[in-house]
Amino acid sequence: MLPLPLAGGETKEKEQDMARVGFIGLGNMGGGMAANLAKKGHDVRAFDLSAAALDKAKAAGCLPVARATGAADGAEAVVTMLPAGTHVEQVYTDSVFGIARPSAILIDCSTIDVATAKRVAEAARAKGLTAVDAPVSGGIGAAAAGTLTFMVGGGDDGFDRAQPYLADMGKAVIHAGISGAGQAAKICNNMLLGATMVATCEAFLLAQKLGLDPQKFYDIASVSSGQSWSMTTYAPLPGVGPDTPADHDYQGGFAAALMLKDLRLAMAAATDAGFAAPLGERATELYEAFAAAGKGATDFSGIIRMLEA
Ligand code: NAD
Repeated sequence: MLPLPLAGGETKEKEQDMARVGFIGLGNMGGGMAANLAKKGHDVRAFDLSAAALDKAKAAGCLPVARATGAADGAEAVVTMLPAGTHVEQVYTDSVFGIARPSAILIDCSTIDVATAKRVAEAARAKGLTAVDAPVSGGIGAAAAGTLTFMVGGGDDGFDRAQPYLADMGKAVIHAGISGAGQAAKICNNMLLGATMVATCEAFLLAQKLGLDPQKFYDIASVSSGQSWSMTTYAPLPGVGPDTPADHDYQGGFAAALMLKDLRLAMAAATDAGFAAPLGERATELYEAFAAAGKGATDFSGIIRMLEA
């Protein structure tokens, strides 16, 4: 028999890595993530309440199933990407815990509150199962491109078992700590993002009032101590810095409603921890006003227009 060429060896290795994965929640983020798992050769059993989302998953190489239990049944990994903590807890309680194999790794990638993430992991442990929280940084584009960053909360064993699946959907997988630590990292990061975006908008607006050219201010602040991702990579003014949602009338990007959701989670966690975060609180109030003005679906950097007015 002829030796297999290198490409054959690679294929063989890939086949050995292939696993049955249940994927629940095929929305803006989950749709792209499930498609990437299928692209990597996994047998993806996909479920969502939306028929349109199931059709898209099918076109992307997943096998749609009629119930969440069908996704969990026989899976080596179950991934959930759902709107909020209530959905996650309900799906795990009703459709995963009684069905999943003890050897399956349960991975929740949704952004939810720390307390629910801990409760789900504890309930899994009580049933002899292993669950990790693994929220993501990166939006819909990164989900589709497979370039998400995952921050994982759970034990070493859970992290090691989740890591290969997450690596198939992202560019970085970081073990944040024990159960709930992934969610803690996510909401602290996004509280920082919300506050730096508001501060960046204010700085641009004041610079303009003081007669500075915005591009000049960008050139200076981007290499000075006021530099941040909100400034350098996501400048909130059209025509300044790289191409950002500001250049597209604040369409696409990261919806202000999702920023508000994350800020509220951060504020609730701060209250639980008995900690005051005045800038986080102020950013939450400003995004509440922005969403109340009907701008929740627009990019979060569009808050510059509200601050300007
Ligand atoms: P989405 O609303 O587009 O998708 C959620 C999906 O879950 C929907 O398709 C919905 O039908 C489905 N769903 C709801 N309840 C269900 C149930 N019981 N069983 C099965 N399916 C159910 O939301 P998204 O933008 O994909 O976000 C998902 C999660 O990712 C959220 O927690 C969000 O905060 C987080 N996130 C989003 C972004 C982003 O840019 N969109 C970025 C980072 C993190």
